[in-house]
Parts: sequence; structure tokens; C-alpha cells
Amino acid sequence: MLRMETIQYNLPQERIPRVWYNILPDLPKPLAPPLHPGTHQPLGPDDLAPLFPMSLILQEMSPEHEIEIPEEVRQIYAQWRPSPLFRARRLEQALDTPARIYYKYEGVSPAGSHKLNTAVAQVYYNKKEGTKRLSTETGAGQWGSALSMACAFLGLECKVFMVRVSYDQKPYRRALMEAFGASVTASPSTETESGRAILAEHPQSNGSLGIAISEAVEVAAKDPNTKYALGSVLNHVLLHQTVIGQEAMEQMALAGDEPDVIIGCTGGGSNFAGLVLPYLGRKIRGQCQARVVAVEPAACPSLTKGRFTYDFGDTAHLTPLVKMHTLGSTFIPPGIHAGGLRYHGMAPLVSHVLDLGLAEAVTVQQLDAFAAGVQFARAEGIIPAPEANHAVAQAIAEALRARAEGKQRTILFNLSGHGHFDMQSYIAYHAGRLENYEYPEEEIAMALAGLPSVE
Ligand SMILES: *Cc1c(COP(=O)(O)O)cnc(C)c1O
Repeated sequence: MLRMETIQYNLPQERIPRVWYNILPDLPKPLAPPLHPGTHQPLGPDDLAPLFPMSLILQEMSPEHEIEIPEEVRQIYAQWRPSPLFRARRLEQALDTPARIYYKYEGVSPAGSHKLNTAVAQVYYNKKEGTKRLSTETGAGQWGSALSMACAFLGLECKVFMVRVSYDQKPYRRALMEAFGASVTASPSTETESGRAILAEHPQSNGSLGIAISEAVEVAAKDPNTKYALGSVLNHVLLHQTVIGQEAMEQMALAGDEPDVIIGCTGGGSNFAGLVLPYLGRKIRGQCQARVVAVEPAACPSLTKGRFTYDFGDTAHLTPLVKMHTLGSTFIPPGIHAGGLRYHGMAPLVSHVLDLGLAEAVTVQQLDAFAAGVQFARAEGIIPAPEANHAVAQAIAEALRARAEGKQRTILFNLSGHGHFDMQSYIAYHAGRLENYEYPEEEIAMALAGLPSVE
């Protein structure tokens, strides 16, 4: 008889984490502060008050090691958390590798990705402080879907600027947001000054996250009842995602295993940070030896090719200056199908841990990412989001290296979302219509030449 092997490590509902883990006070060197775009002085909480509710601003700079998750947020988390941790046994067999591969699967959330972890928290605090409407940007549509759903649950209005190339590539994402009651506009749009300025110069613009952020920030800055919500990059967003890593640590203990390498794809850095920050906390205390690897697309390589310096978070320069790995805020990345990875910058916190040598970064080409995603789907039955394919590709590369070296290795990666709304990109892949993009050297050099000078 076949022995039944464990492939799924599940936690009961009461094991949904009670706190978010804040790495800020544990860092061996503090984060560089965000600066006011006009004065270049460090920002105070009041500077951000037009855009965010005070509770989120305080989380952004919190010195506490742990922040309690409000019970109402945990109740909503209970719909899909704790998310499962799988052992990828069929993939291991297909790769004929001695490595053990585990993945934390965030695609079980109703919005289809990890983004709901922070969407629910952000809408909750906004509601508590009287916000009536949230404005935001979305790349591939996952963040917009998550925020729309959280707004529907908690009774806020939602206005989404969706990057033009994704708006055209992913109409079902737009339909999902509209089903949740959100209003969705393709960006750049004629509704804002920032959008009109871009369209005047580039009428056919594909859009970018940087442009869509400018539009959403502008809308919030001009309306006292509207605040702005960001789906990645900021400290409080990464904080909310630490439920992923805390659960994964418990689940790896259930499996009786410890990761040697931990992998996440990086767009703005939030799913990666969510999985790895709790492990990095241990690493800082000398309790974890794992290598930590961020995977980014070759077409938009902020961590591996960007400069670690102060830059704007958006194209129209409405946001504060933050110190991060950046390709320049005017860089418009090629229209790769992993829309959630098309951001010119990277979370300051992720940039910082890389700079401290606590993590490393690699790039993956679009075709290699999709090849890995298809191989994974055939073995595990889950179609990964194009963004998550980058993490899958790196996990497979590590497993094949373990085979070549004849070594055991425990690999843990974040499967940040499913690709059910991204099947158009799989159609294009199978029809041979996807291409790799060389590193867009000239455009990046131009964008980097325009960096603000901050000393
Ligand atoms: C948004 C998104 C990403 C990229 O954003 P991060 O903040 O880097 O996580 C990756 N995977 C999925 C499924 C996403 O929705």
C-alpha cells in the first residue's frame, strides 16, 4: 500500500497571529527617515496626515516590537487564514531533486493574493478615523481587488487608478473590482493634473505604477473625505504582511523542518517582506542561518541594478522622498505581464535589509518565469500569478542546484497569489507571443540622471 505522505500543514483558526511583527526596533542600523519633498527635512507624522489616518502613520514609525491585530481584522482574516503551507512533493519528484520544497500559499484569499492582509487592516483604521473614501492605484489589479473587497466589507467607497496596460490586459480584474463596488479608471487618465500632463506628452502611454500613484495621491490630497491607500512599499504595509511569516514558522515546525533558503518575488516588496521579516528577526538574534532571496524581473531590476538613494515614490513627485533601491521615478518599465512587479522603486525596508547583507537579490526573465509557472502548475495543480512565477523559478533553480551538488536543501517560498485572472498572459505564453526584455539600460540611465539631489 502507498504510504500517505503529508503535503499540507494546516493551523487551526485560533492560531491566526494576534500581533504583527515590527522589525524596525530590531534592525542593527536604523532606517533612513523619509524626507519632505520641498525642505528635505525628515517628515513628521503631521506631514502625512492629509494622506493617511494617524494610526497607520504611527505604525509606519513604530518603535514597538509587536502591534496587536484588532479583533475585527482577525475576524475577517478568519475567512482564509491561516493560509496553508504545502510541501511540493510532486514538484520535487518532477525535478528529481533531494531538496525539500515548501510553499506558503496566499492565493486562498478571496481576492486571490496576499494583498488582502493589509487591505483589511488599512480600511479598518481608515474607517475608525472617519475616512469615507479611499483612492489607490493598481498594477495587475490584485491590490485594487483586495482594497475594493475590504471597502465593501467595511462600508467605504473605493476609487482605483489602474495602470493602462493592465486595464487592457486584464478586463476581468476590473470587473471584479466593480463587482465589489469600486470605481475603476485607466491610468494615465484625464481626471487628474498628473494624468493629463503625462497624456499631453505620451498620448499612447502604457502607464506605470508611478503614474497611477500620482493620480491617486492627487485625488486624496484634494478631498478632505478621501485618503490614499498603498498596497506595498510602506513600512505599515509590510508590517501587516508579517502574518505570513509568523504562520509559516509555526507550519515549518509542524513539518519538523527549517528552511535553508527563503524566497519571495519583489515588486514593491510586501509579500517577500511578509514571509521573510519574521525570519530576519531570528537571523538578527542569531537563531536562523537561512539565505533570504528576493526575486525581481530582469525588465525592472530595482534591487540588482538600481541605485540605493533618496527618490520619489511616484512619477509626478507628489510623494515624500524615501531612501530605496530605485531605477528613477520617471522610468516606465516594459509592459511585462507580471504587472505587480513593474515598479521603479523598492520598499525602503527591503532595500535596507539588502544593504545590511541580511538578504540577496536575483533577476528572472519573463519566459523563464512562465516556464517555471507551467512546470509548477503541472506538478502542483495551482496556476501561479505571473509575479509569483518569479519566486517559483528561483525555487526550482535552487532545487536543481541541490541536485547538481548532491545536497539536501530545504527551500521555502511564497506563492503570493493565483493566476486565474491572468490567463491571457498564459495564452500569450503558449502562443509564443511573450518575449524577454533586455535590461532597458538607456531608459534607466536617463531616469537615474534625473534623481533628486539630497545630501
Ligand atoms: C502585488 C503582487 C506582487 C508584488 O507586490 P509585492 O508588494 O512585492 O508583494 C506579487 N505577487 C502578487 C500575487 C501580487 O498581487
